[in-house]
Amino acid sequence: MLQLKGITKDYSVGGDKVRALKGIDIAFRKSEFVSVLGPSGCGKTTLLNIIGGLDHYTDGELFIDGISTKNYSDRDWDTYRNHRIGFIFQSYNLIPHQTICENVELALTISGVEKHERLKRAKEALDKVGLKGQYNKKPNQLSGGQCQRVAIARALVNEPEILLADEPTGALDTVTSVQIMDLIREIANERLVIMVTHNPELAEKYSTRIVRLLDGNIEGDTNPFPEEEEQALTKARTQAKAKENMPLDDKEQEKKRRKALKRANRKSKLSFLSALRLSARNLLSKFKRTLLVCFAGSIGIIGVASVLAVSSGVQNYIHDMQDDMLSGNPVTVSAEALDMSALMAGMSGFAQGDALKQSVENGYINVNYLIDYLVSRGDAMGAGMIKNDITDTYVEFVESMPKEYYSAIVKTYGLNLSNNIYTDYAFNGHENDRLSLTAATQIYTSMLEKTEYAQYSAYISLLTSNFMQAPSNPDFIISQYDFVTPADKSKIATKADEIMIVVSGDSDLNDLLLAQYGYYTQDEFLNIIFKAKDADEYNPDLDKNRFTYEELIGKTFTWYPNDEIFTATGNVSSPFKYSAQADNFANGKDLKITAILKPKDGISYGCLQAGFYYTSALADEIIANGKNSEIVRYLTDHNTDAFNSGSANIGGTTIRQGIMYDYSYTMDGQKYDDIGFVGSENQMNAMLGAMPGMQIQHVYSLSRRELGGNDIPSRIAIYPTDFDLKDSVTSYLETWNGDGDIKVGDETIAKADRTKITHTDNLAIVIDLVNDMITIVTSALIAFTALSLVVSTVMIAIITYVSVIERVKEIGVIRSLGGRKRDVSGLFNAETFIIGAISGIIGIAVTYGISGILNLILGSLFGIYTIASLPIGGALIMIGISIALTLISGLIPAGLAAKKDPVDALRTE
Ligand code: ADP
Ligand code: MG
Repeated sequence: MLQLKGITKDYSVGGDKVRALKGIDIAFRKSEFVSVLGPSGCGKTTLLNIIGGLDHYTDGELFIDGISTKNYSDRDWDTYRNHRIGFIFQSYNLIPHQTICENVELALTISGVEKHERLKRAKEALDKVGLKGQYNKKPNQLSGGQCQRVAIARALVNEPEILLADEPTGALDTVTSVQIMDLIREIANERLVIMVTHNPELAEKYSTRIVRLLDGNIEGDTNPFPEEEEQALTKARTQAKAKENMPLDDKEQEKKRRKALKRANRKSKLSFLSALRLSARNLLSKFKRTLLVCFAGSIGIIGVASVLAVSSGVQNYIHDMQDDMLSGNPVTVSAEALDMSALMAGMSGFAQGDALKQSVENGYINVNYLIDYLVSRGDAMGAGMIKNDITDTYVEFVESMPKEYYSAIVKTYGLNLSNNIYTDYAFNGHENDRLSLTAATQIYTSMLEKTEYAQYSAYISLLTSNFMQAPSNPDFIISQYDFVTPADKSKIATKADEIMIVVSGDSDLNDLLLAQYGYYTQDEFLNIIFKAKDADEYNPDLDKNRFTYEELIGKTFTWYPNDEIFTATGNVSSPFKYSAQADNFANGKDLKITAILKPKDGISYGCLQAGFYYTSALADEIIANGKNSEIVRYLTDHNTDAFNSGSANIGGTTIRQGIMYDYSYTMDGQKYDDIGFVGSENQMNAMLGAMPGMQIQHVYSLSRRELGGNDIPSRIAIYPTDFDLKDSVTSYLETWNGDGDIKVGDETIAKADRTKITHTDNLAIVIDLVNDMITIVTSALIAFTALSLVVSTVMIAIITYVSVIERVKEIGVIRSLGGRKRDVSGLFNAETFIIGAISGIIGIAVTYGISGILNLILGSLFGIYTIASLPIGGALIMIGISIALTLISGLIPAGLAAKKDPVDALRTE
């Protein structure tokens, strides 16, 4: 069945060729016990390896069943070894970390036999060699003879036709040797056994044929298998086959052979699951090292996963905050507003250096085009202002937005109610008078100017707060605010004569606001300043730290129309006079406080900030009244938008002009009379004026808008229903600037009839900025932490390589049992797969642990318990990345393992 013709084998040793076999001609019978005898180094092992397909001959031909092996591929050889050859080695070559049963199973595992069948056959084979019941012992728990029995069982378990034994008793004592030889002789009854030995007595006693080898040549053969006999047998076999089948030509025969091999090969493969199980065994046998490797491998994963956890936690936090912030940051359309996004774009894109860049020429002084710079800067600043021409049609357009998009639309008209609202003040000498809020502010300022704390006086007009307009949707307010007042005094203001107080989350109102609205007496107010400055005048009895609901609600504020408070003078420089005191006024409207509101828990950015709120109903009345008032008509007649007033020192005389009023107050027993101006001071001017040592001319401006003379809103605030619908709101607003026609009510407005209107979405600007920053920081951190991933990848590559070196023997065994190169690399890939998976899982577990601790710490510091939260999806991806990286790192060592020459591998000690 086996025939060698002129087989030679050359090894190259340091460039020289060593001929180990020098032309071997020999044939073997289907069943006989051949002993190969010869001195050490004569080529016995080489011959055996070539017969077993473990090593390949240099020249000559090897026929198996009369078919040449010239064209055998690697896979053909693997299949041949797996199905037809059993190897026994002098050093047993058992895999130490597997039980003997698993060792025997290995050949079956490689050929893909299923577990149940595998176990049955392995146990049978072990029973046959006399190791019944010892299946679960490890090789190091057995004697040498027992180990060789296991090796024999492993060689036989696949029921091969040929058993090759390389000095099987070489390492055994005489008694054990005899036992092993008995076993082998028994086996030889039904198959071909070729045994290498240098013990002639054993050879004589047991074998049926002795072949002597010397220096790579056959020296003697006691029972040669003549060629005629071989040919006759082959012929008989071919004829028998020919009878069975149609006559085949060589080509077809080759095809058929391939097919048969393919069929056999289909089963001859180590499944990934088996590879995993084998590798898991090996890793378990080196438990501590595996654990360390996995921990080291997990460090990179921990780094990256932690960064991701924090990043996603912060992003979630911001997302939650967005909904909260939404009610405090509506989408707005203003007649005039700062264009934040343009400003920011302008700031980054605008550099003075560009404008000043000059070419330098020797011998000249270049012109630095400062004017050019100023012009372009001016343009950039101008681009930072949005001016929108809001029209009635536009207002109608905004209001016909689908109702589900918004909770409230608030149109404000730039009204200033401070001039028109009067209330009681406990100023000395004014006990029975009702003064306007404007005048009260002036009196406080003036009083402070008379004390040694004059430098703080200017802040009063800067920090005063006006009445504000509340959304006209009670449900929207109630969704964010709770009533502080008892139920019978709690009603959202809706009518024109109703107002509300909103306090901060801590249920407070600031002292300046309370003073401005007359809740403090003159002495109580001054006492606050004295207390702040730790002055001698401070009197603890005058401290007023809290107010009852009744005190707050009980106060009445009265609004008077323009025509009551402004009276025409006929004087050109001061056309109107204002009354600080409500004397003999008619047509007043008493404003009742209906409720005190406080933001609900967890709402940090409500739609109302602390202060006093009037209704849109009142706003409508004020405008209806204001439009026809004398003072507004005066502005219209004079074709101007505002009164500008103030005082100037011209030629040593103080010239005053504008809208003035007289006021008086008594302090420290002395009565002061003075003149005030109506209107709001330019903020910048006021601020500079408040600085010590600054001499600024104060100019007050009273605009038609402030007087209620403009019925087109100066600002429309749209409060979206939720964060997702904000986009619907903004895209609805954008359709105004689009090309198509727009239908508002029954009217169709063509593009030509619309001017561009820009809305402001401050929340989006802020959130975008924050998100950009998070992305940048996250990317940078991941880049850093990814370095440790690279390091651990390299480390795992090294560890795998070490493992390959450690397991060279095992690689040889697997190959000798018919394992393919792919099976070997698969084995190591399975190992790195396991390491990667464990590293990933450890990494993720540790990350979740760290996140928990971090959240506890941050939570106790800031009250936010979700700053680090790695989403499950991200965790799975990180485990995937860990597996992928370790697999990649193991590819090269695994490939090296697969390429290992099985003969070299087995020779390694
Ligand atoms: P035996 O088994 O009879 O002791 P071997 O078949 O192992 O002898 O070796 C035969 C000859 O080939 C020896 O001279 C040995 O040094 C040489 N040889 C075997 N394997 C190699 C190898 N991989 N590279 C170089 N020389 C080798
Ligand atoms: Mg040898």
